[in-house]
Amino acid sequence: MFNKWLMIYSNIADNPLKMEALKCPNCKNMGTIDYYFIPYTINNELGSAYIWCNDCKKGIHLDRVGIPKNTKIIIDESIKLDEVIPSFKEVTPEEK
Ligand SMILES: [Zn+2]
Repeated sequence: MFNKWLMIYSNIADNPLKMEALKCPNCKNMGTIDYYFIPYTINNELGSAYIWCNDCKKGIHLDRVGIPKNTKIIIDESIKLDEVIPSFKEVTPEEK
């Protein structure tokens, strides 16, 4: 299951404007995946990634990943993450 979420990450990296074509690995719904990247510093291409499904509220949180171009990033430190990222249940690498 975790690997399928990693595929979502690479799909976003390859084609960030085609989110509606992504299918949730958990509930199989389409167009329900959302994400944010949070760079460690401004202009840093490395950061955290939050990717989740708005329907089943599952997803992943990755640290120290590359931030793809043309993706949604949060650099404004006044933004409260829990206001833009819903609480979701993290899928872990152990979950098959
Ligand atoms: Zn889902």
